[in-house]
Amino acid sequence: MKPIIIPQTYNYIGTFLSLVCNLRCSYCINYFEEGMFSKKHISGEDWVRGLNRIVSRDDLPISLQGGEPSLQKDFIYILNNIKPELNIDVLTNLQFDGDEFIRRVNPNRIKRKSPYASIRVSYHPETMQLDPLVKKVLKLQNNGFSIGIWGVMHPTHEAEILRAKEYCTSLGIDFRTKEFLGEHDGKMYGTYRYEGACNKKFTKKVLCKTTEFIIGSNGDIYRCHSDLYEGRIPVGNILDEDFEIEDKFRECNVFGHCNPCDVKLKTNRFQQFGHTSVEIKF
Ligand code: SF4
Ligand code: SF4
Repeated sequence: MKPIIIPQTYNYIGTFLSLVCNLRCSYCINYFEEGMFSKKHISGEDWVRGLNRIVSRDDLPISLQGGEPSLQKDFIYILNNIKPELNIDVLTNLQFDGDEFIRRVNPNRIKRKSPYASIRVSYHPETMQLDPLVKKVLKLQNNGFSIGIWGVMHPTHEAEILRAKEYCTSLGIDFRTKEFLGEHDGKMYGTYRYEGACNKKFTKKVLCKTTEFIIGSNGDIYRCHSDLYEGRIPVGNILDEDFEIEDKFRECNVFGHCNPCDVKLKTNRFQQFGHTSVEIKF
């Protein structure tokens, strides 16, 4: 299979091992619209074959995420068989067996020079309890893993997230907050570059170019998060022998139904604010 060379302009490799989750948070961004994504999982061996084609940079890891990535039955096999040249980050709700993880995964495999932890645990007060989570995080941390907790500043949970941050910080856990993106009580939260992009009120034809390599749980590769979550036609598959990234503008007929992850204003890897994952031309 041809190597997949990540363009220098790319900032993210999102590997959605499983879009299924064992929790069901009311504000889950995967269900920003209909959540029509494929629930099909490719095997661990196929993931390893596909991911090991990727040629990336030291500062651009493969992010194993979901849904909940540990629901891919070969999660640990995948982690342990991705080629050493690729750095790995894991985004998880940490509902998996921590002891098995400690036994089977070398903490140095998921560690790199970076301003934030490589295992990023999400804390969702409406579906999780803080104390068992903290216990698990401390155990992984004491066993050498680079791990931290992130809390979403959802208007209903802001006070609890700030309390959790204070508590975790006092225990030596890196706890960070994330902006809430999406709708609550009829109000749209988040700062977006393109007006109306996420309002779901119209569709418009545009040209769109991404800076992210997004792979769904069936190995399909998508233009953006919105296409992934809505199960739109992919641009290829990680197992297509000849697949290569085309760093170009593509036609899109559903501008107005973008996912907040694609069009929110954020800081890029050079710590410059004002970056978005996609660039859109009207
Ligand atoms: S833990 Fe994450 S992926 Fe799972 S339902 Fe909650 S927000 Fe969604
Ligand atoms: S315009 Fe929006 S929905 Fe269309 S490809 Fe770009 S980010 Fe995705």
